[in-house]
Amino acid sequence: MTTQAKGKAIYSPIKDLKHFVPSYNANDRTRTFLKVQDGCDYFCSFCTIPLARGRSRSATIADTLKQVEIIAAAGVKEIVLTGVNTGDFGKGHNEDFLQLIEALDRVEGIERFRISSIEPNLCHDGVIDFVAASRRFAPHFHIPLQSGSDMILQRMRRRYDTALYAERVQRIKDRMPHACIGVDVITGTPGETDEEFMKTHEFLRSIPVDYLHVFTYSERANTTAVRMDDAIPMEVRRERTKQLRILSNKLQRAFYQKHLGTTRNVLFEAEENEGHMLGFTDNYLRVTMPYDPAFVNRIVPVELTRMDGDGHIIGAHPTVHNVTTANTSAGSLAEEPAVRRTNAAGSPSGDPAEVRDPSWTGTIYAPPLSDRPIF
Ligand code: SF4
Repeated sequence: MTTQAKGKAIYSPIKDLKHFVPSYNANDRTRTFLKVQDGCDYFCSFCTIPLARGRSRSATIADTLKQVEIIAAAGVKEIVLTGVNTGDFGKGHNEDFLQLIEALDRVEGIERFRISSIEPNLCHDGVIDFVAASRRFAPHFHIPLQSGSDMILQRMRRRYDTALYAERVQRIKDRMPHACIGVDVITGTPGETDEEFMKTHEFLRSIPVDYLHVFTYSERANTTAVRMDDAIPMEVRRERTKQLRILSNKLQRAFYQKHLGTTRNVLFEAEENEGHMLGFTDNYLRVTMPYDPAFVNRIVPVELTRMDGDGHIIGAHPTVHNVTTANTSAGSLAEEPAVRRTNAAGSPSGDPAEVRDPSWTGTIYAPPLSDRPIF
């Protein structure tokens, strides 16, 4: 550490930084993003984050829980766990990510936790099985793939191959058929010939994933990849990105359609947009309905009734559908995995006050598929 001779600035090289304090955004009572980890030790060949953010570090579970209890006291219903390499939580404290989520699951007051992203090699059986059995962790995984070509994965210095990735997503779907799985992919990494790109396209069609975040490779100073041969022309990269975004829309549409006619718990947000409100199911389906202040920051069982033909739903004429707690009685929901956390009274939290007025009528429609997920 260096102290400047004049003035009070104290600084240290980012690579030496070991301290971490969990932080969160405090302006939304519905959903809060809690950063539980920073930095990364992986040094993928295309990525500057380890240089910019330093080594992997996090607070202890005990200190993280203190932040979560403060958030819970503020009335927040959902916490999204974020980090640069979230699954690497616990380094230096003899703790790990599974222990963290086990501890979080016991915090009273937070109704949902969502894992923003987790590397495939860190999304091990223990994490998957715990989420499957959890009362609070959402069945939603975002797992970076980056390429469906093992040769390109090696060039990227990723810590898994396509076989491991396929096995991880299959285990998630085996345990939680209703789970939503999102994927990060990069197009146009140096050496990604047409054939290697097609391996990615075919791989993504062969595994049970539900949407993609597609990034076009761009050269970054001080990375290994920038010095590699076989750069791909930018127009080719962009064309591949376009192709994968089309695939993403198809995957997401299929996922939405699969859930039509089911009932899931939706956490509604406060914002009113042209008379409508928005909410997310546990498995990341976006649901909108006419604004009703009674539903703000509440988890409400909702029957998902329709989406339009081209996936651009807002502005379409939604089908009015009666949604009542009678439809979500214990009997009708008992076989529905979407409401596995709903008690016999139909209350997601077990609080009888949350049982909805049976006369409520809502208009439900699905979101535009072109909208990007929130992270
Ligand atoms: S891509 Fe992710 S895992 Fe790889 S070095 Fe960057 S932050 Fe770390």
